Amino acid sequence: MSLLTVGSVAFDAIETPFGKTDKIIGGAATYIALASAFYNNDQKIVSVVGEDFPNEMLEELKKRNVDLEGLQIKKGEKTFFWSGKYHNDMNSRDTLVTELNVLEHFDPIIPASYQGVDYLMLGNLSPQVQRQVIERLTERPKLIAMDTMNFWMDIAMDDLIETIKLIDVLIINDEEARQLSGEYSLVKASKIIRAMGPKYLIIKKGEHGALLFHNENMFYAPALPLAEVFDPTGAGDTFAGGFMGYIASTDDISFDNMKRAIINGSALASFCVEEFGTERLKKINNKDLEERIEEFVALTNFDMEQVIS
Ligand code: AMP
Repeated sequence: MSLLTVGSVAFDAIETPFGKTDKIIGGAATYIALASAFYNNDQKIVSVVGEDFPNEMLEELKKRNVDLEGLQIKKGEKTFFWSGKYHNDMNSRDTLVTELNVLEHFDPIIPASYQGVDYLMLGNLSPQVQRQVIERLTERPKLIAMDTMNFWMDIAMDDLIETIKLIDVLIINDEEARQLSGEYSLVKASKIIRAMGPKYLIIKKGEHGALLFHNENMFYAPALPLAEVFDPTGAGDTFAGGFMGYIASTDDISFDNMKRAIINGSALASFCVEEFGTERLKKINNKDLEERIEEFVALTNFDMEQVIS
């Protein structure tokens, strides 16, 4: 199936307890596309970079058959820049710098060849742009998933609420779910958020896995316990990319298939954190992914023959 990813393509500077990077390539759409490229879809991107963005990552994406017709390169402008510092537990971080640059006045032009796309993944970006993309698609995709972050809740909550009304699956972390709903309990928060529009809600809990809510159903997938977590940047986007890549390639939006999609997303995210930035994702292959999915299955599988009576 075809899958359109929208989101930032960026420069990041990251500080973790294990080290610090200068400007490296990041961005929500970058991680999403690298992850979803593991699945057999016709992949497209709508995003924007400045003239300063190196060709290297664009070549990596082309190598993975990602169609870059919808990626605008703005002459004389600078690429979006984000810098973050992780706390010792690696589960929380502070944003140090967000320079919107090209994202500030981004007009998401949808190439004619993208119309009729089957699935839409709205990665982290201004909620107004996310909404414009939905509105500019002549046919509604079979499933629209969306990620966002506290930054947009702080500066564009009204816009965010308007966009959330139009989507099917919202993918956010626990802190963001609490901020969006004003409710600490994630079960209560999930009800409040789903009443805002999305029928499905995925709450990511970092090293504690992810929860999926739909109607009265709930599913929980753990994260794989890893000996070393080097840099969590992009893990959430990688998760979303794996989730939507799997859903689109199987063309099945049932709750049961979403469970499998979450395991795929979690497996890919577990690679992402093992090295700085996109390094690990660029190195792994299908076999690595299959083996890790088996580890997930082994982690959560058990027999229960005797039931207490
Ligand atoms: P994650 O760790 O999955 O939350 O995503 C990290 C990525 O999100 C980084 O590569 C950043 O470039 C990107 N990012 C950070 N802040 C924003 C923002 N306000 N809008 C869009 N992308 C962002």
